[in-house]
Amino acid sequence: MIKALILDKKEDEKIAAEITDISLSDLPEGDVLVDVHYSTLNYKDSLAITSSSPIVKNFPMIPGIDLSGIVEKSSNENFKAGDKVVLNGFGIGEKYWGGMCQKARVKGNWLVRIPSKFSLKQAMAIGTAGYTAMLCVLALEKNEVTPDKGEILVTGATGGVGSIAVSLLKKLGFDVCASSGRSEYSEYLKSIGAKRIINRSELSEKGKPLAKETWAGAIDSVGSYTLANICASTKYRGTVAACGLAQGYDFSATVMPFILRGIKLVGVDSVYCPMDERIRAWKRLADDLDLNNLEKMTSLIPLNKVIEASKDMLSGNSRGRIVVDVKK
Ligand code: NDP
Repeated sequence: MIKALILDKKEDEKIAAEITDISLSDLPEGDVLVDVHYSTLNYKDSLAITSSSPIVKNFPMIPGIDLSGIVEKSSNENFKAGDKVVLNGFGIGEKYWGGMCQKARVKGNWLVRIPSKFSLKQAMAIGTAGYTAMLCVLALEKNEVTPDKGEILVTGATGGVGSIAVSLLKKLGFDVCASSGRSEYSEYLKSIGAKRIINRSELSEKGKPLAKETWAGAIDSVGSYTLANICASTKYRGTVAACGLAQGYDFSATVMPFILRGIKLVGVDSVYCPMDERIRAWKRLADDLDLNNLEKMTSLIPLNKVIEASKDMLSGNSRGRIVVDVKK
């Protein structure tokens, strides 16, 4: 028997989350069986586990949009028993059973080999949040945002995407301005690479169509008025990478920064990102992520603490990355 966190609809249509024993034969079809060591708690997982948003498309569902583990059996030509692999997105934890289970049977073409620099735990400390932060950095680079052009803003800076983005940008030589709602984490943000910190309230209310040109680029995991204000204050021909909605999914902006300053707004999706870009992002993480910073931003919880941690995350009380040890 193997342990799994299962989300299921009860008779009253309410969704319940509980840890249950299942057998290998319960797992769905797939050409690779992975012995899962770790999963991680992303914002989307918290929404799913607490049923705060209709993330889960089928029930019963094992949540967890990420997993890392060792291939146990494979009929896929690209993977063999013993390979260390990571899976981010592709609908696991939403449409297909996800990482919060001690084994996973999945499609081999969803898997990425973990760069040798990272342990299974570090791969999940990075997880979707970290790989998305890297996709955002790649989007800035692709649009010629370089350190000499000026400061980069990172919003939701104490969160998973934000923390890894701050650390990556610092390592790449950028001056990073971190926007955060939590002044108690100022030292933390400086220790992982922020040069300057602003309170998120400076950006979260409805603002003007154009504001002082401040940022050469931005990585935004917040959305809503914050994203509109970032666009309004991005420098001439700067780029904003938008990946999240922690404040809200609305976006009421004007065309002014686009037509008068030629700024670019690039959407970043990690879930169905093509495999070549995923591999590039993981390789760049191995090159550019400071492992001491990763350690500082990571906490470890057992599977039976996931429900509680999900509630904390949605109330804005968690910090950095939360790795889930599914063997405990
Ligand atoms: P976290 O919960 O770890 O971080 C979110 C951070 O946003 C918080 O730490 C907080 O930072 C800030 N925040 C929280 N509430 C608000 C609010 N009401 N207004 C403004 N800021 C707020 O989540 P993740 O880092 O895992 O994910 C961040 C966002 O990115 C989520 O919306 C998630 O769904 C999205 N995402 C999207 C992906 C994609 O593929 N596009 C992939 C991964 C994540 P602080 O206290 O420092 O302000």
